[in-house]
Amino acid sequence: MDRRSALKLIAGASVGMAAAPLASARTPSLDQPPNFVPADISPRRIIRQVVGLRPFRPAGYVVRAERFSRRKTLVHHYGHGGAGVTMSWGTAAQAERALLSASNERTVAVLGCGVIGLTTALLLRRRGMDVTIYAQALPPHTTSNIAGAVWGPSSLYRREAVDETFAARFVDAARVSQRAFQHFANDPRYGVYWLRQYDFSLREPSGEREAQPLDHLYPGLVRHTEPDRWFGYPSVTENHVLMIDPDIYLRALMADFENAGGRIVMTRFETPSDVARLSERVIVNCTGLGARDLFGDEDLRPMRGQLTMLLPQPELDYAYTAWEGGILYMFPRRSSVVLGGTTDLDEYSTEPSAAETARQIEGHARIARRLAGLERVGG
Ligand SMILES: Cc1cc2nc3c(=O)[nH]c(=O)nc-3n(C[C@H](O)[C@H](O)[C@H](O)COP(=O)(O)OP(=O)(O)OC[C@H]3O[C@@H](n4cnc5c(N)ncnc54)[C@H](O)[C@@H]3O)c2cc1C
Repeated sequence: MDRRSALKLIAGASVGMAAAPLASARTPSLDQPPNFVPADISPRRIIRQVVGLRPFRPAGYVVRAERFSRRKTLVHHYGHGGAGVTMSWGTAAQAERALLSASNERTVAVLGCGVIGLTTALLLRRRGMDVTIYAQALPPHTTSNIAGAVWGPSSLYRREAVDETFAARFVDAARVSQRAFQHFANDPRYGVYWLRQYDFSLREPSGEREAQPLDHLYPGLVRHTEPDRWFGYPSVTENHVLMIDPDIYLRALMADFENAGGRIVMTRFETPSDVARLSERVIVNCTGLGARDLFGDEDLRPMRGQLTMLLPQPELDYAYTAWEGGILYMFPRRSSVVLGGTTDLDEYSTEPSAAETARQIEGHARIARRLAGLERVGG
C-alpha cells in the first residue's frame, strides 16, 4: 500500500467501535434485510459487569528497541488501546523484527502475560528462543480477558497524532494479524469465529464512500441506504467479522506457550532497576498500561470500558454497533451476550457504573425492539 492510501485509511479508523470501514456498494433494491432474532435485553438476565482500562496512546502503539542497563536490550511493545487482541499478531511480528535487528541473544524475558505478552512470547519461542514470561497477573485476570474481542482496529490512536510512518506500520500489522486469526478460526480450541456484523447509523450518508484499504478484511462488506427496509436507519453497514472470545483464546495461547517449553513466572516489577536485575539480556516490555508507571510513559492513558454480560442466547447469530449519544455494541458468545460499550479517557475507576449499565440496557433494548419490527428509528 502507498502512504497516501495508508493515511486515508487511518483517517477513517481511529476511534470507536464502529470504525469498521464503510462500504462501497449499494444493496440491490430486492435485497431483504436479514431476519434478526432480537436479543433478550433485560436487567434480570445480567450475569456480571466488568470494567477494564485500555492502554491508549494518542500516537499509537509503541514498538521500539533501546539499550538498557548497559549491556541489555529492551524492546518496548505496548499501548494497543482498544485493539490489542486485534493487532496482536501483527505488532508482535514487528516487535520480533525489532528484537532480531538489535540483538543476537537467544534467551529472552517477556514482561506481561496479556494478549501482547503471550503472543510475543509464543512467536519468539517458535523461533527457537528460550523465553520466560514474567507478570504480575495471568489470564483470566488481565485486561486482555475483558476485551470483546471483535477483530477491528478501533480506539487505537488519534488521527491528528499519527504520521505516515505509523500509518503504514499500522496497516501492515492489521493485515498480518487478521490473516493469523483466520487460521485460529479453523480450530475450535481457540474460541475464534466469524460472525455477521452491522453498524446501524442514524446519520444520513453523504454520497458514495470511497473504498478503503482494509475493506477486504471485512468480507461481504456492503452499505444499505434504504431506511424503509432497515427499521428507519438511514445507513446500515453489513460485513462479516472475526470474533475472539478472550477467555478461551488466552487459555489456549498459554497452553501453547507452556507446551512449547516456555516458562511463566508471577512477579511484579516496581522500577526499571527491578527489571534490570533479570538474568536475561533481552527484555520485551509488554506490560500494557503498566508501562506508564514502570517506564514513565506519560502519553499512555487509561481508556475505561464497561461491559454488561447477559445470559447466553445461542440463537443470536449477529453482532452490531450503533452510535446513539454514545457507543452501543452487542455480540453473542457461547457463555454470554456481551453489551458495550464505553470509551472514557483518563478514567481509572474499575467499578461498574450503575448509570452506564442503565444506558446500555435501555439502548440495547431499544435496538432489539427495532430489529423485532416493534419500533422504528425516530418513532
Ligand atoms: C471493555 C473493553 C473492550 C475491549 N474490546 C476489544 C476488542 O473488541 N478488540 C480488541 O482487539 N481489543 C479490545 N480491547 C482492548 C484490549 O483489551 C487491550 O488492547 C489489550 O488487552 C492490551 O493487552 P496487553 O497485553 O497490552 O495488556 P494487559 O492485558 O493489561 O496485560 C498486561 C500484562 O502486564 C502485566 N504487568 C503490568 N505491569 C506490570 C508490572 N509492573 N510488573 C509485572 N507485570 C506487570 C500485567 O499483570 C499483565 O500480565 C478492549 C478493552 C476493554 C477494556
